[in-house]
Amino acid sequence: MADKKQNNRRNRVNNGDEDYNPKFRKMRKKVCALCSDKDFVLDYKNPEQLRKFINEKGKILPRRATGACAKHQRDITVAIKRCRHIAMLPYAEN
Ligand SMILES: [Zn+2]
Repeated sequence: MADKKQNNRRNRVNNGDEDYNPKFRKMRKKVCALCSDKDFVLDYKNPEQLRKFINEKGKILPRRATGACAKHQRDITVAIKRCRHIAMLPYAEN
């Protein structure tokens, strides 16, 4: 009985379909948008560009959401903070 259960689970994991497990759906590995696009210049005076990296409350999205590499996530964070300082992005939205 217990053996059967284990086998089922193993089969599920090893059926070649990595997207099968509902817990890990849509966990496709992202490539950093800034690394892959050489023409992409992060500009703190461009709030439209930076809006992609904040949520509706104005918070900076985490790396797992932006898909940025450590270096670029840092650049994004600094740019957003500068943009907030010059009042082109909100610190918080209701
Ligand atoms: Zn990058």
